[in-house]
Amino acid sequence: MRYLASVFVFIFGSIIGSFLNVLIWRLPRGESIVSPGSHCPRCNHPIAFYDNIPIVSYIILGGRCRHCGERISIRYLLVESLCALGFLFAFWCSGFSFSLGFFKSIYLFSSLVTISFIDIDKRVIPEVVTLPGIAVGLLFSFFEHNVLDSFIGVFVGGGMLLCFGFIGGVMFKKESMGFGDVELMAFIGAFLGWQRSILVVILAAFFAVLLGGGLLIIKSRRRKLSDHYIPFGPYISLAAVIAYFYGQVVIDFYINSFFPA
Ligand SMILES: [Zn+2]
Repeated sequence: MRYLASVFVFIFGSIIGSFLNVLIWRLPRGESIVSPGSHCPRCNHPIAFYDNIPIVSYIILGGRCRHCGERISIRYLLVESLCALGFLFAFWCSGFSFSLGFFKSIYLFSSLVTISFIDIDKRVIPEVVTLPGIAVGLLFSFFEHNVLDSFIGVFVGGGMLLCFGFIGGVMFKKESMGFGDVELMAFIGAFLGWQRSILVVILAAFFAVLLGGGLLIIKSRRRKLSDHYIPFGPYISLAAVIAYFYGQVVIDFYINSFFPA
């Protein structure tokens, strides 16, 4: 039964991933997310249902449009697989039960995947995902009886990035961080509470320096020196996923080390 449920969650994750691919493409372009149905961006040919099966179709078609042979971005396969595995992991973390915690995890995970890829693509963090997400996070916390923690999390999360943005602006004399990052962190604060939000910011800064610095070196070598923008959204998202699932372990460790009972 547990095995069957896991297969179901995996398939469900891949279907949601397929939907997120639509959001990632259409949200920043201001297109409707329901109509028209999926179509090839080059030849506009509608994609039949049998060519639109998550993960499977991409592999069968070899990542090309059936009609015009146009290459389909590997991102489609990546997002579908990422969601399938992410959902499975969330299911495992919630003890193979369809609990409130499971639905909270997959909501957060799906939002962060969408935000990250839109930020990489378009360098913008979509408000239509983050702002309603704050309300959803507070709603989940209401059912989990920790609204206050979630509420403070919104202000601690958003506030920290607001401060960094201000300091950065003074230091580099230009806007170093968009308000989208502030909203993203407020959204994460609503889901993770204030303690884990602090952990997210520390981890995100660490990833940005480590991974972002590496990417910057590669880009410089390719002489794309003008392109030094680093989207911060993916680092915050990665940090949030880690802090969401394992943050309490780290926080408990620190509290027990510095304030032994
Ligand atoms: Zn085509």
